Amino acid sequence: MSPVHRHPDHRSPLVFEVHELGRRAGVMKRIETTVPAPAELGIAMIEVPKDSDMELDLQFQCVSEGVLASGTVTVQLRGQCSRCLDDIEAEDSFDVQELFFYPGNEVEEDESLVIDETIDLEEALRDAVVLELPFTPLCRDDCLGLCLDCGVNLNRDPDHSHGETIDPRWSKLADIGGDTPN
Ligand SMILES: [Zn+2]
Ligand SMILES: [Zn+2]
Repeated sequence: MSPVHRHPDHRSPLVFEVHELGRRAGVMKRIETTVPAPAELGIAMIEVPKDSDMELDLQFQCVSEGVLASGTVTVQLRGQCSRCLDDIEAEDSFDVQELFFYPGNEVEEDESLVIDETIDLEEALRDAVVLELPFTPLCRDDCLGLCLDCGVNLNRDPDHSHGETIDPRWSKLADIGGDTPN
């Protein structure tokens, strides 16, 4: 057994018993539960806060090689808009699908195993969420961002402008204009 296939921590809320499925292909069970989110679930600008509610709506299905876990995870997201830097608070759902192989199957290091008749969903949930998070999250799709001149949030003041200041490249033209009589 490779080092990554360590024994599950039975205290983890993301470790589930699959013993009662009895390795009979086709047998399934539904899991609907809310668990606390693990630490460090996220990327630089957006994350799932530790211990926030994670809703699991999953199905564990026996297949010939192991147990297929599939369904959705719904998480709370906290972050910062990459355009206007406002806080983002949102809820989002992600698809989860992971096959846990029974011991005895030839598996790669990055594949999951049924260990001690349990499956540990943490890595599968991490992958399902983290790989889908946007590197440049937005508070809304049409976020207007910040004024490049003064940094004001344009979402709060869409008509904001610096009308009185003139780009230096145009100031000569403005001078010429100023010479013409009104
Ligand atoms: Zn924004
Ligand atoms: Zn401005």
